[in-house]
Amino acid sequence: MPLEIVTLTLGPAQTNAYLVADSDTRDAAVIDPSWDGKLILSEARSRGWRIAHLWYTHAHFDHIGGAAEIADASEGPLPLVALHPNDHVLWRAGGGGALFGFNIDPGPEPAIDFYQGQILKLGSIEFEVRFTPGHTTGHCVLYVAEPRVERSRSAVPGVCFCGDLIFNGSVGRTDFPGGDWDTLVNSIKTQIFTLPDETRLLSGHGPETTVGQEKMYNPFVGER
Ligand SMILES: [Zn+2]
Ligand SMILES: [Zn+2]
Repeated sequence: MPLEIVTLTLGPAQTNAYLVADSDTRDAAVIDPSWDGKLILSEARSRGWRIAHLWYTHAHFDHIGGAAEIADASEGPLPLVALHPNDHVLWRAGGGGALFGFNIDPGPEPAIDFYQGQILKLGSIEFEVRFTPGHTTGHCVLYVAEPRVERSRSAVPGVCFCGDLIFNGSVGRTDFPGGDWDTLVNSIKTQIFTLPDETRLLSGHGPETTVGQEKMYNPFVGER
C-alpha cells in the first residue's frame, strides 16, 4: 500500500496540510504545509519519512505558513518548493496574509514550476498536476490515479488534492485578488468532474468528499 496520507488541520484558517509518502521508499512531500511546520516535520520523523518536497496548490498564506519552519529544521538538503508561476507574485507578497494580520515567512524560494500535465514522482507514486485557476491565477490540483502501485484485484480509487478549488458542499472564494468565478467553475468542470466518480477529493478546508458526491449535490456546481 505505497501511498500513505496523513491529514493535519492547522493554523488560523484550519487549513488541511497533507503529509504524503511512498511508504516503501519513505520519500515524503507536504501538499500545502499550512502552519506549525515543526509539528508536520515531527509527524514525518515519527514515521521515518524524509520530506523532500513542498507542493503548493496555491500561495495563500494559510497554505504555506509552515514552510519556513520545515525548511529551517530539516536535516540535509532543503525540501524543493513547487508552485505554479502565476502565483509567484502572491508568494512574494507573503500569500496575502497582511490583509488578515499575519506576516508569515514564506520559506524557501520556489524551485519548480508547475504546469498542466506535469508528472511529479514520489518514490513509485505519480502525481499529475492539473492547472485549475479561479481561486487564484496559479491554482493547481494534484491527482494520483493509482494510489497503490502493485496490481491488486480490488480497485483503489484515485485521490485528488484539490486545495481551495472545491470543498465538501462548497467551492473556493473568488473575491480575493486574482479570483474569477467563471474561471473557477470552468476549472471544476474540466479538471475535477472529468475524473472518475469514486475519486476522493481532499480539499484545503473541511472533510473529504468524492467527485460523484459533488457532481450531484454541490450547491454551486452540482446537478441538483
Ligand atoms: Zn486560498
Ligand atoms: Zn485556504
